[in-house]
Amino acid sequence: MSRPDFSSYASATALQTAFVLLALCLPAPNASANETCGGDYVCIADDAAVVTVWAAGSASLAAQQLCAEAPVSVTADSAGERHLACSAASDALRLLARCQISLRRPLHVHIMSEVRHPFSGAIFGLLDTKQERVLITQEANIPSLVKDTPYAKLPQRDFYRSLIVHEIVHGIMHQNLKRRATSHAAYEYPAYALQLESLTPDLRDQFLQSFDQTSIETNSILFNDPVLFFDPYFFAARAYHHFKASPNGCAHLTALLEGDVAFIAPPHM
Ligand SMILES: [Zn+2]
Repeated sequence: MSRPDFSSYASATALQTAFVLLALCLPAPNASANETCGGDYVCIADDAAVVTVWAAGSASLAAQQLCAEAPVSVTADSAGERHLACSAASDALRLLARCQISLRRPLHVHIMSEVRHPFSGAIFGLLDTKQERVLITQEANIPSLVKDTPYAKLPQRDFYRSLIVHEIVHGIMHQNLKRRATSHAAYEYPAYALQLESLTPDLRDQFLQSFDQTSIETNSILFNDPVLFFDPYFFAARAYHHFKASPNGCAHLTALLEGDVAFIAPPHM
């Protein structure tokens, strides 16, 4: 997989654009060291890192559809993909509605043949908050991204649907932020918790069985960026358990919208 020449895609203006980019990022197979992202990645607007979006893929066949259930539009090559994305969007909205968190502006989902991290390799997807759009890698190109991860144990379609839920949760949460979080972990906690919540109980258990149960149930350890970057799957499992074990998981999500919370470690400890 060749590395794109970002300089030809990113204008100086784009490089200075301040938007939050949330990217699920996994090393691509055979990727060189500088192409791997090292897990689930959140790039926050004020990070020193310059952020731009690079996405590839033909959109020649793509058509746009407005979802019947929600103010979400989907661009994808096939009606099946658009239907799946609308269905996942509906799930994400339903899960957040339980916590009285809803979409405030229309959100656009674009299914593309490939989505790449601005400075690294292929990724599942990302949220471009400036344009209120979610970019997601086409399902056909997902197998190489999940290879050798705990996600590979799940039926591909179920995992893929949960991935769309994850990204749309990012989009909805972002629209409701009152104060931007300062850590990547704070952005990813709700996305992972609700991604796993969207799976059927048997599939979720299948995923959770990949981890030492005592470790994921240990609430004394703070959620932090290092764990997120180096073991995003374990982070996901812990986030789900923490969210569900709490007497009021919704309170965690609403607190995150207000800013930093006690169970998320500050970025610089
Ligand atoms: Zn994410």
